[in-house]
Amino acid sequence: MYYGAIEAGGTKFVCAVSNSELEILERVSIPTTTPEETMGEVFAFFDKYQLTSIGIGSFGPIDVNTKSNTYGYVTTTPKVAWANYNFLGAIKERYQVPAGWTTDVNAAALGELKKGAAVGLESCLYLTVGTGIGGGAVVKGQLLEGYGHPEMGHMLVRLHEDETFKGTCPYHGNCLEGVAAGPAIEKRWGKKGFELAEDHKAWEMEAYYLAQALMNYILILSPEKIVLGGGVMKQKQLFPLIRKELAKLMNNYVAMPDLETFIVPPTLGDNAGITGCLLLAEKALDDE
Ligand code: ADP
Ligand code: ZN
Repeated sequence: MYYGAIEAGGTKFVCAVSNSELEILERVSIPTTTPEETMGEVFAFFDKYQLTSIGIGSFGPIDVNTKSNTYGYVTTTPKVAWANYNFLGAIKERYQVPAGWTTDVNAAALGELKKGAAVGLESCLYLTVGTGIGGGAVVKGQLLEGYGHPEMGHMLVRLHEDETFKGTCPYHGNCLEGVAAGPAIEKRWGKKGFELAEDHKAWEMEAYYLAQALMNYILILSPEKIVLGGGVMKQKQLFPLIRKELAKLMNNYVAMPDLETFIVPPTLGDNAGITGCLLLAEKALDDE
C-alpha cells in the first residue's frame, strides 16, 4: 500500500511516497517550471509505484469548490504557465486513484494538527510568512474551505506609525502580505531579512503587523493552536515580540491559551506540508 503526496510550491514541488503508516519511503524535489516539464518529472517519480491514493497541497489560488466546473484547477496564479491548469485532473487521469486536493497551507495545518504541534487538539491554524503570506486551518477536523479557500495573507492591517513603505501587493498594496512578507522586508530596509540584526526595528514592525493578523484570525476562528512557519519566521526573536503585541492588542477581551504554547513554530519544520499531503491521501482513501 503506497500513499503519494505532492506539496506543490511556487519554486519547487516536493513529492513523496509512504507506506500505510505514513513513513516516507522516497521523496524528491522538482523545480516548478512549466506544467509539462514539472509534471513530467512528477509522473516519472510516481510511476514506479502502484499508488493507493494521493494527496495534493498546492500553491494557488486554486479551485477547491467541488461544485465548480474548474474544481481541481490552479486558477489565476501570477505564474502564467500554471494559470487555468487542471492539476487534479492530470493526476486523476494518470493514476485513477482517490485524490485529496487543497492548498499547501491547509495541508500544513493538517500535518501539524495530526502529527506536529497541535496533536491531540481539534483545530490548528498554520500561517507561512515567506515570499508571500498564506494561511490554512483545520477546524473540528475539517479543512477550512468554502466558496474558495482562505487567503489569510491579504487581510488589511493598520499601518505602523513609522511606516513609509507603500507595500508590494499588486492587488492591494499595503495588505498584510504587502507589508510583512519577505520581499516587503527586503524592499523597505534594503537588505534581506536574514541580513538584519536580531534587534533591528524591522522585527518590531513585523510583529506589529503579524499580531494584528493573529488577533483577527483568533476572533473569527478561535483556533486551539497557531503555528507560524516560513522563511521569515526563522527569526526566532519574532515569537516573543508577536506574543507581546498580541496580548497588548487583545487587551484581555477574550480568553486565550497560554501564549507560549499557543503561538509556536512548526514541530514538523519543513515537513509540515508533505506530511499533511500524506494525511490527505489517507483521508481520500477513507472517504471513497
Ligand atoms: P517560500 O515562501 O518561497 O516557500 P520561504 O518560506 O523560505 O520560501 O520564504 C522565503 C522568504 O523568506 C524570502 O523573502 C527570504 O528573504 C525570507 N527569509 C528566508 N530565510 C530568512 C531568515 N532566516 N530570516 C529572515 N527572512 C528570511
Ligand atoms: Zn494583497
